[in-house]
Amino acid sequence: MTILVTGGAGYIGSHTCVELLAAGYDIIVADNFSNSNPESLKRVAELTGKLFTISKVDLQNRQQVEKLFSSNKIDAVIHFAAYKAVGESVEFPLKYYQNNLAGTMVLLETMEKFHVKKFVFSSSATVYGATNHMPITEDEQIGSTNPYGRTKEMIEDMLQDIYQADPSWSIAILRYFNPVGAHKSGRIGEDPNGIPNNLLPYLSQVAIGRRDVLTIHGNDYQTKDGTGVRDYIHVVDLANGHIKALEKIQKTPFISAYNLGTGVGISVLEMVRAFEQASGKTIPFHIGNRRPGDVAICYADPAKARAELEWTATKSISEMCEDTWRWQLQNPEGYITEKVSIEASGA
Ligand code: UDP
Repeated sequence: MTILVTGGAGYIGSHTCVELLAAGYDIIVADNFSNSNPESLKRVAELTGKLFTISKVDLQNRQQVEKLFSSNKIDAVIHFAAYKAVGESVEFPLKYYQNNLAGTMVLLETMEKFHVKKFVFSSSATVYGATNHMPITEDEQIGSTNPYGRTKEMIEDMLQDIYQADPSWSIAILRYFNPVGAHKSGRIGEDPNGIPNNLLPYLSQVAIGRRDVLTIHGNDYQTKDGTGVRDYIHVVDLANGHIKALEKIQKTPFISAYNLGTGVGISVLEMVRAFEQASGKTIPFHIGNRRPGDVAICYADPAKARAELEWTATKSISEMCEDTWRWQLQNPEGYITEKVSIEASGA
């Protein structure tokens, strides 16, 4: 069975490729490498000992996408490729609408044309916006507070409409909470461009000395210690959620959304302590202002994924920190190898 993985060179994509190959799937990775490095895929091949096709494709380029489908027998698609920085999406909304929506539409239209109707979509807990109902179930009202989240929300709507019009589609929508950690080997991990926005990459860059001090964005929230509470989930657990979703979409046509989280809320200060423990480093921090748009608390009710996908997160906070630290130590500057040139081949 051959799975097209769009955005397979990215953080979650590369970890999912490892798990797909380990589970015996054939994969084709389509990525434009706009925010990722082909080195991650070389390492996926090295870790798994398996060969797979890599195609430099921009999803907005219909010709390239159609060529992918005409020259390969694709059974299902896992769609990661998207821009993902919340702050940037507020500053440049059109960039986000153009890339995330237009790329997905070309992909879905091409799937329809080639009668490929099995789809796993990379969505986000950000679609829930600023709800006070914790833990968050999939029935919670949708209403994102930023353009990035709205692109995810709009694609979810698009998928619902596609399924209503043609119930032979089979679609799993996965709403990620806060992915962290790295593969146990330390060979692949998160490699943000520039100054990291997210907590764990920032923390690990402070620990390794690339940044001086962590700013904690507010300690006056109504939470256990005043700092923000999130549901951090190990990226390998998350990757395995995709394998489970893939199994489910092969059974019968359906559409459903699933929270992928642990169900446990961890504060920023708890995360700092756990990271200090894992790294043996003291993390200097200071308390700054609240970050605009941040919610106090956000954690999942993962019961639906447990019941319907038979998936559950297994990895602890210490494992998340230890694996992040190993990746950071072994790759202090991320994937620094020269960008390997991969020609647009359409595979
Ligand atoms: N956070 C922080 N300092 C940072 C980055 C994040 O205090 O440099 C906090 C942030 O306010 C939130 C938590 O860490 O409470 C997780 O933030 P992240 O950006 O990783 O995820 P998101 O807010 O998107 O859930």
